[in-house]
Amino acid sequence: MSTNGPENLQTSSVFSMATKQLDIVANLLGLNDGLRQILSTCEKEFTMNFPVTMDDGKINLFSAYRVHHNTTLGPAKGGLRFHPEVHLDETKALAMWMTWKCAIANIPYGGGKGGVTCNPRELSSTELERLTRRLATELAAISGNNKDIPAPDVNTNEQIMSWIMDTVSSQLGHYSPGVVTGKPVAIGGTLGRREATGKGVSIITKETLRNHRIPLQGCRIAIQGFGSVGYWSAKFLNDMGCKIIAISNIHGAIFNNNGLDITNLGIHQLSNPNLGTFPGVDTISNKELLSLPCDVLIPAALERQITAQNAYQVNASIVVEAANGPLTPESDVILQERGVRVIPDIVANSGGVIVSYFEWVQELEHLFWDLEEVNSRLNTLIINSLSDVSDAARRHKATLRTGALTLAVERIGRGLALRGICP
Ligand code: NAD
Repeated sequence: MSTNGPENLQTSSVFSMATKQLDIVANLLGLNDGLRQILSTCEKEFTMNFPVTMDDGKINLFSAYRVHHNTTLGPAKGGLRFHPEVHLDETKALAMWMTWKCAIANIPYGGGKGGVTCNPRELSSTELERLTRRLATELAAISGNNKDIPAPDVNTNEQIMSWIMDTVSSQLGHYSPGVVTGKPVAIGGTLGRREATGKGVSIITKETLRNHRIPLQGCRIAIQGFGSVGYWSAKFLNDMGCKIIAISNIHGAIFNNNGLDITNLGIHQLSNPNLGTFPGVDTISNKELLSLPCDVLIPAALERQITAQNAYQVNASIVVEAANGPLTPESDVILQERGVRVIPDIVANSGGVIVSYFEWVQELEHLFWDLEEVNSRLNTLIINSLSDVSDAARRHKATLRTGALTLAVERIGRGLALRGICP
């Protein structure tokens, strides 16, 4: 029996990064100790260790986590991540960020997150399916369409959501599409969910450029990560007239001063993950991509990519956090001092959870919307949330991140005060 358990993992604290952000806001708002304690602690933390039979008949043990940070405003909502570096600390931080994100977007959810410590690239499709179905079985006690609704995140997709939905439906004995979002449209998903996070990133980027009087046409953008979020962000911004001058994935980065052909690059990546083999591009390192001179830098891969070590090299006027937590608190301060405008993750990448909410609502109503309606509602909610966050930042004479967090904390604090404590 081999193990994919947490002992091999990097364990430095992403959660302390999330609580540091909260501390700034708690001090600014003068939060009482009770509320401070409630918000800086996760309501529920589940660790699961379960066996999966591999194709060669051997058994591997996998560790998985699901965390509910705060459910004052609704059921826990948040993605499931399959990655070798998934661990409880990271999952707690991501769950906390989901709480803020849902409150800022004004959708009736609390924050949750989960993941499995595994490398999906080393698993066959049948192994991935068995792992997912076992995970869904483990999650049954805590998830459900009024309790906790998972969605796709890093290395998880519509297929994985379908297996979860099917496993839960089989166990309940009836069709239960509302237990996950991010499903294929053919089995109860919504139009527009696949591209929603990237669409939201593009709307927020466009609005920020407008506020800073930087022309959209020809605006130079570098994007770290070319997965679900990175690809769709690049595609929509390119369609709006921006030039995507650099893109990276786990295998390396590429650059073209005249702008990359995003549609064909996306097709190329399907059969050839090494982007450097795409015609007409220069290869650069991932490190170089983060320091390219450009108007907008969009980190769309993983957390803690911009740190105190490389923040002085960032050469963009605006950073739009498409990934969750791509800036450490130290780098956030450095960028602020250097006058770089940072659009925080809890606003910039909220398009995904907003459209997940639409998927859930459509299922509850058994009434499905066309793409135009989905996109128009997304546009309204995300622009409103950016405007609410900008107002809060102005009110508190603070950065957008602090403004966003104050808004979330105030909304949740109000909910907690009204609900009271049981018993
Ligand atoms: P994904 O697995 O589809 O893509 C991740 C991409 O990042 C891949 O292209 C991968 O090769 C690349 N990558 C990983 N490490 C890298 C590195 N060190 N340098 C360069 N590239 C690297 O994942 P995703 O769903 O696109 O999620 C990306 C980020 O966005 C995550 O932080 C996730 O939590 C966040 N997010 C995702 C959604 C969603 O709807 N999928 C919603 C909100 C936030």
